Amino acid sequence: MNCNTLNINQAAEASSEAAVSAQTGGMLPLSEQPFDTLQAITEAKRCLRCKVPQCVKGCPIENNIPEFIHQLSKGNMGSAMKIINETSNLPAICGRVCPHEKQCQGHCVLGKKGDPIKIGRLESFIADFDTGMELIREDIPQKTRGRVAVIGSGPAGLTVAGTLARQGFKVTIFEGHKEPGGVLLYGIPEYRLPKAVVRQEIEKIQALGVEFKTECMVGRNGITVDSIFEDGYDAIFIGTGTARPKDMDIPGNRLRGVNQALYLLHQVSAFNEGAISRRFVPIREGGRVAIIGGGNVAMDAARTALRFGAKVTVLCREGRDELTAIESEYNEAVKEGVEFRWFTQALEFVGNGSGVLQSIRLSTPEGEITENFERVFIAIGSRPANRIVSTTQGIEVDRKGYVLTQDYPYGMTTRKGVFAGGDVVHRPQTVVLAMKAAKEVSQGIAQYIDAVKLMRHIETNNN
Ligand code: SF4
Repeated sequence: MNCNTLNINQAAEASSEAAVSAQTGGMLPLSEQPFDTLQAITEAKRCLRCKVPQCVKGCPIENNIPEFIHQLSKGNMGSAMKIINETSNLPAICGRVCPHEKQCQGHCVLGKKGDPIKIGRLESFIADFDTGMELIREDIPQKTRGRVAVIGSGPAGLTVAGTLARQGFKVTIFEGHKEPGGVLLYGIPEYRLPKAVVRQEIEKIQALGVEFKTECMVGRNGITVDSIFEDGYDAIFIGTGTARPKDMDIPGNRLRGVNQALYLLHQVSAFNEGAISRRFVPIREGGRVAIIGGGNVAMDAARTALRFGAKVTVLCREGRDELTAIESEYNEAVKEGVEFRWFTQALEFVGNGSGVLQSIRLSTPEGEITENFERVFIAIGSRPANRIVSTTQGIEVDRKGYVLTQDYPYGMTTRKGVFAGGDVVHRPQTVVLAMKAAKEVSQGIAQYIDAVKLMRHIETNNN
């Protein structure tokens, strides 16, 4: 296999950046800025350590919130990190991008009085503190239980890798891009999730003994599920997410100036990394930009375009109540000056005669109108790419390309030993829900490998 093996030291430079970035908080509003130590301990001391903690009920991965907050309130950062590590592989990320207002924080009893514990900020504080101080050096078990290949290094892939590595499996991640991180690195803007933080979390997963093969696209160049099995892996996990953005089937959709929102986020990410110059970021200062969609990608694209000086309008087919984006992301977008149009549907992208977008014909509650926009970014969802499925026998998918899995062993596809989880099975969800699904599949993989090895052992003894 002609893939690169990522060296753990390659992330080291980024690590020191992470601490700085984590401290400054970039362009975050004050209410989301990272805590300093005194603020974190003061906030932690407010926690009532409820006997029946509602916050845990609201956490999809059931973090032991009262206990880690209690340890933090006493200044025991190492113990707090240990408790978080028991259930989460990506706390610095979850602490920043989870919809806390709907989950843990939204369930906190202190919320009834209008001031819930800022659980997300405490979680990322502990993870950043651990990074900065190198508090935890876990005892990692010998990798004797079996070999697992993980395809994709987004939240689901990293969760499976981290969970199984902690349980004594030798895990290798196959990533098609130059750098691991998937949607965490390329799909979430810097102001919400600094790349340095993602790299830091990945470095911690490497430190658990997980190997990363980058520029290693499964389904191309002879690398297939079959060739991975031939290399001696006991099980394979597909966590490739939904990499194919949905197109809009309306006239003018091939005009220059009509792009996917994910393309904008990729370009901006590359620009921020210094990989491309400003002229490749498809936003002109003062230009009028439309974003089509009402989910988190639409909010990210809108707020990103705004930061590059565009006048941004989000066009939503549904009303305000049907918006699928995280509430706080919508509120921030409004605060920053993004305009929203409800019950508004694009009917046609109109060109200027030279193949370049000039305006959009829209259906609105007031009737049909045509409005000038020089760029439009589409964010109406995405679905799985079929690269792996089309190069592998026996993995069944549904009509839309989502991989079918079973309940026992949990997460196994219709092909023996091949598992799948996260968005590629459950449709696009939040980071933490992809992690939750991946944790459950990890147990399925562990049970499967243990059972196969036991059967082989029995057979060998019988012969
Ligand atoms: Fe603390 Fe709120 Fe959880 Fe109670 S519900 S344990 S106060 S975070």
